[in-house]
Amino acid sequence: MRRQSKSEKEVLIDTISAEVSELENRLGWRGLSDEVLAALRQVPRDQFVAKENRYRAWENHPLSIGYQQTISQPFIVAIMTQLLHPEKNHRVLEVGTGCGYQAAVLSCLVEQVYSVEVIPALTQESELRLKNLGYNNISLRCGDGYSGWPERAPFDGIIVTAGTEMVPAPLISQLKVGGRMVIPVGPTHESQMLKVLTKVDEHSVDIEDIIPVVFVPFVRSTD
Ligand code: SAH
Repeated sequence: MRRQSKSEKEVLIDTISAEVSELENRLGWRGLSDEVLAALRQVPRDQFVAKENRYRAWENHPLSIGYQQTISQPFIVAIMTQLLHPEKNHRVLEVGTGCGYQAAVLSCLVEQVYSVEVIPALTQESELRLKNLGYNNISLRCGDGYSGWPERAPFDGIIVTAGTEMVPAPLISQLKVGGRMVIPVGPTHESQMLKVLTKVDEHSVDIEDIIPVVFVPFVRSTD
């Protein structure tokens, strides 16, 4: 009897897991947790890209989503999600909704996701997409994520998905003590360092450098 070949999704999961194993020492863990793997399997990445890109949705690459923005590489989504240490009762803030994929992955793992996007059209498209796909624990807002979302703070975790030269101070204020922030920091048109900040107490953070990454630039709104 012929063995059924693996689905594209399972091939992607294997690829991501292999890449995580290679970086075991940098990441500090042996593999992705069962919860993160389940979330990656559950979210239909093909529904977050334009029809003409669907055939590439299960490749381990970023893809264009228009407006000069991208859907992040699945490997990066996987490790950023795990680095955040999401828990069922967490309220998490994302800065840089884009197409809403990372928000959807997080929504499988935490109680409530808040996500801010600076481009109005992307916010509207993602709002509709997430609603149609049945995600009901994600709140979106259009605006400059530099300021976070003060009305919904404090957050157990904050994830920034655009490359920023400095960690925005309001985001540190909006993080709970003991909370973690995962953020790419560095020159916005080159590569950045993916960092994990842990808020130790009201006045100090611990900073850990993870791996070099390349994100689209964090853009300050002029409104
Ligand atoms: N999280 C996305 C990837 C987003 S790409 C995913 O799941 O695939 C980065 C996004 O950050 C872009 O949509 C960009 O418009 C947005 N962005 C850039 N600067 C921002 C800012 N200051 N505030 C909020 N969003 C910002």
